[in-house]
Amino acid sequence: MEEVPIPADEVVPMDDIAVGVVGLSVLFTNVFAIIGEEGWVLVDAALYGSATRIIDWARGHGPEEPPRAILLTHAHFDHVGALDTLVKRWKAPVYAHIEEIPYVTGERAYPPPDPSVGGGLMARMAGLYPRQPIALDTVSPLPPDGSLPMLPGWQWIHTPGHTAGHVSFFRAADRTLIVGDAFCTTKAESFFAAVVTQKPELHGPPAYFTTDWDAARESVQRLAALDPMFMAPGHGRAMSGEATRLA
Ligand SMILES: [Zn+2]
Ligand SMILES: [Zn+2]
Repeated sequence: MEEVPIPADEVVPMDDIAVGVVGLSVLFTNVFAIIGEEGWVLVDAALYGSATRIIDWARGHGPEEPPRAILLTHAHFDHVGALDTLVKRWKAPVYAHIEEIPYVTGERAYPPPDPSVGGGLMARMAGLYPRQPIALDTVSPLPPDGSLPMLPGWQWIHTPGHTAGHVSFFRAADRTLIVGDAFCTTKAESFFAAVVTQKPELHGPPAYFTTDWDAARESVQRLAALDPMFMAPGHGRAMSGEATRLA
């Protein structure tokens, strides 16, 4: 199938999220590059049709060098859409939480989104919703000790609720947090209010697809307890500095 070109104004770089962390917003989904001493790692793979934009963006940081790995926060279609193409191009190993792997290899499919929490964006996403799950040959489980492949100083944190195998990525040294769809900063004020009231809310795509709301709330509280200084979500803006202070 041919890639449908994505208009340039739907592709927005997110520079300077934190030291060595940059992002790219393609349509309404973000991907991130974590740049270490031994190369870089891609976090998530956006919507189907995004591969060319992601490759162009990666090349923009120097001669095209494949990422050392591709890490998935979870395997919803708006986070793995370009994965197949990127893996073929880059031959990079893919890692996900062990409970998420069956959704990447095609063994299992997620339940359909909940239209009752949809709204305008839901209608826009309908045409992008794939008919079939992605079916990648090899996906490795994240290391059981909580470390991240190729990224010393980073850890993965199991943040179930949005999906059973959802993970977030955290660097303790400067409290940088890549949250995936554990929450959405397009309504960041709800997140902060949530921490105070103990009733986190989810908005946008994270809301449509969340399957276990009790677990999702616990996961948000676990992330809030990390007191993140730099936060990068799967949808919406990255935040840094005082704006992210939860105390
Ligand atoms: Zn999701
Ligand atoms: Zn998402």
